[in-house]
Amino acid sequence: MNLKNYIAEIQDFPIEGVLFRDITPLMNDGEAFFEATRRIQEFAETCGAEIIVGPESRGFIFGCPVAVNMKIGFVPVRKPGKLPRKTISYKYDLEYGSNELHMHADSIKKGQKVLIVDDLLATGGTVEATIKLVEEMGGEVVGCAFLIELLGLEGRKALGNYNVFTVMSYE
Ligand code: 5GP
Repeated sequence: MNLKNYIAEIQDFPIEGVLFRDITPLMNDGEAFFEATRRIQEFAETCGAEIIVGPESRGFIFGCPVAVNMKIGFVPVRKPGKLPRKTISYKYDLEYGSNELHMHADSIKKGQKVLIVDDLLATGGTVEATIKLVEEMGGEVVGCAFLIELLGLEGRKALGNYNVFTVMSYE
């Protein structure tokens, strides 16, 4: 199954000059959505993931089904002002603009094996910030999984020696 057939390309979204990869056609097709999730789950099992962490909002879409299938927990990473209890935070630069991410301060146990899941790896800023938060709580990042990797933005370089898996990639 060629999952690239289910990714739409939108020129100049959300701002001029950006070619946005839209994952919603893939979500719209049950077989494609299942297959994408299955591949990420296979990686998660190889890594021995004990919990999944996903940045809002598209990290939830792929992280949650994998967590439920594996009967492990899911931890949301959110923008400021969304999480109701005590958080830790980290500021980072995004492909367009800058952002600050938060996690509940008690969401990861010391030594817990964490898989980070998001829809897309661009510059790596989002996942780097997420790694910092997980490690601040004493979690061990055993892998980072993405549906899509944009090779030209060299996010993998930012991830150094972390174990990175992507379902599909674009130049
Ligand atoms: P990075 O932090 O690696 O530069 O950017 C990745 C983050 O931005 C991800 O959380 C992803 O959801 C979002 N993002 C950036 N560009 C795109 C895109 O073309 N398509 C989608 N679906 N998300 C994008």
